[in-house]
Amino acid sequence: MEIAIKTTKREEIIDITEKIKEIVEGSEEAKNGKAVLVYVPHATCSIIINESYDENVREDILFYLRKQIPQGIWKHDKIDNNADAHIKSSLIGASQIVPLEKGKLQLGRWQGIGLAEFDGPRERKVIVKIL
Ligand code: ZN
Repeated sequence: MEIAIKTTKREEIIDITEKIKEIVEGSEEAKNGKAVLVYVPHATCSIIINESYDENVREDILFYLRKQIPQGIWKHDKIDNNADAHIKSSLIGASQIVPLEKGKLQLGRWQGIGLAEFDGPRERKVIVKIL
């Protein structure tokens, strides 16, 4: 299964929890699944699990990464000026795994699944596999 996400800014975290829930919890496969893998086949974005209730958390995470990993000082910037996005994407990671129980995602009350864009706007593909 996969979903397409259009990002609209250079950096943003888009809450995709409901979209993932919809395709996973509506599937037959999920009933016998132990976990869900959420993965992006891209080098400058990530999948992140964290609080999705207060959107300031997402802003703070982006602020922190921007502060720690500035733009324009890396070797790769001479080629396409997005080395910071590659580093951020490597640190957060291309995938997350969420346990399943009776076909339901076992996310905590405040947790959500986000697509973290570091070099948008772009068309992103999220691959979802029930394990
Ligand atoms: Zn690049």
